[in-house]
Amino acid sequence: MLKDNIIVELQKIVGKDNVLTSQEALKVYSYDGTTSWIHEPDVVVFPTSSREISEIMKLANREKIPVTPRGGGTNVSGGSIPIKGGIVLCTTKMNRILNIDKENLSVTVEPGVVLQDLNLRLAKEGLFFPPDPQSFLGATLGGVLAENGGGPACVKYGVTKQYVLGLEVVLPTGEIINVGGRTIKNVVGYDLPLLFVGSEGTLGVITRAELKVNPLPPSKKTIMAVYGDIVMAGETVFRVLENGVIPAKIELIDNWVINRIEEMMPLGLPKDAEAVLLFECDGIPEAVEKETEKILEVAKKYGAKETRVAKDMDEAMRYWKARSAGFAAVFGKAPTVFAEDVTVPRGKIPDFIRKVREIAKKYDVEYNVLGHAGDGNLHPSILTDINNKEHYERSVKALEEVIEAAVELGGVLSGEHGIGLEKARFLRRTMDPVVIDIMKKIKGILDPNNIMNPGKIWE
Ligand SMILES: Cc1cc2nc3c(=O)[nH]c(=O)nc-3n(C[C@H](O)[C@H](O)[C@H](O)COP(=O)(O)OP(=O)(O)OC[C@H]3O[C@@H](n4cnc5c(N)ncnc54)[C@H](O)[C@@H]3O)c2cc1C
Repeated sequence: MLKDNIIVELQKIVGKDNVLTSQEALKVYSYDGTTSWIHEPDVVVFPTSSREISEIMKLANREKIPVTPRGGGTNVSGGSIPIKGGIVLCTTKMNRILNIDKENLSVTVEPGVVLQDLNLRLAKEGLFFPPDPQSFLGATLGGVLAENGGGPACVKYGVTKQYVLGLEVVLPTGEIINVGGRTIKNVVGYDLPLLFVGSEGTLGVITRAELKVNPLPPSKKTIMAVYGDIVMAGETVFRVLENGVIPAKIELIDNWVINRIEEMMPLGLPKDAEAVLLFECDGIPEAVEKETEKILEVAKKYGAKETRVAKDMDEAMRYWKARSAGFAAVFGKAPTVFAEDVTVPRGKIPDFIRKVREIAKKYDVEYNVLGHAGDGNLHPSILTDINNKEHYERSVKALEEVIEAAVELGGVLSGEHGIGLEKARFLRRTMDPVVIDIMKKIKGILDPNNIMNPGKIWE
């Protein structure tokens, strides 16, 4: 519980209307996209400038009050849950697109800009921001940067860090710093923008970003390959790449998810398929045609029992809508869902899928697989109920084995969702202790009082 004088000081900084303390408000800001964590803050503040954030951080640092930055609250690792109470610092009122520089293919944004809003605005200029977390309707750029977000289009375009030219950051001690710049090349000193990208709000508050954008591709095609064997779908992924085609997207949806999506809203997915792969090729029309032909050839060679090329925009949109509804379909089906984010080298996808199947059978748990197969970033989900102790404990064991299997295959614990609260307990098992020590020292330098999103990444 914060003292009244702290609330008054916060009101002086951001104005009374931008400080919330009601029980209802605290409840709203006590959760995010995860299903296992909930914790109320003492206060929620909505700053409107970097200067205000700097004042808030100076106050919090002086009084040693935890601060949890928050954008849209859509993350699925517990990152924006104020697990130690204190201040939730919500950036949604800092939502201006400050500049679109078409000549230099860059854009300057405040952290609260919603990803979809950015892309709608950029589209008017013939541009787009490629990283495409499927939560684009609610995710903010601050959150996407702090999680180093990905999405389907990373196969060809890469993840958020590849689009960061420069950042303004307010440090936990209140200083406002600018790192990076506006140029494509920049090797002046250490690459500090990349330190903050993916730091999950534990090193500072990102208050402005200079981002690279791309021209919209003139043509796109969506291809669906339908499989009777999900392992063959996994094999097709790296065979397509090996054959010299790098599509923008390669997504995998298994039978379980296909059927939940079709129950929720029929979009034309084949309900009897063990899995489908969805591809998108984009670029100049001739190249897109050639890539499409090659994908169809490779998919057939590696076990697709049917292939479809979306005949128009409407059909393509239906398939991609189905894909983006995938997580909603999964999360709606159990009180507690472990939505994993492990990433394996792409050549190991078939082995990993086999392993997940074995583990689910061993522990007798319901599971499904959905994900960015083109990056080896699969989201195997285990469905359970935190209130059913026996089932929950069995599911945790299954989850641990899934993570171990991914790491044994040369993979990592998280490809895009971050560690947050959800995976902190696994970090020590999968990372070199010397590396952990270096990371903690960096945290200690920037945040000596450990007020910045405490409890995240590090248990
Ligand atoms: C249905 C669904 C689909 C999803 N699909 C994808 C996907 O395809 N790819 C993907 O990568 N992710 C995906 N996600 C995860 C999630 O949407 C992303 O992590 C998103 O980038 C978070 O943005 P946000 O604004 O909601 O941030 P929040 O959830 O509010 O915060 C996320 C983290 O960023 C920190 N943070 C927020 N703003 C700032 C700031 N200004 N400065 C410093 N730290 C900050 C928070 O403290 C927290 O640790 C999905 C989530 C859902 C629910």
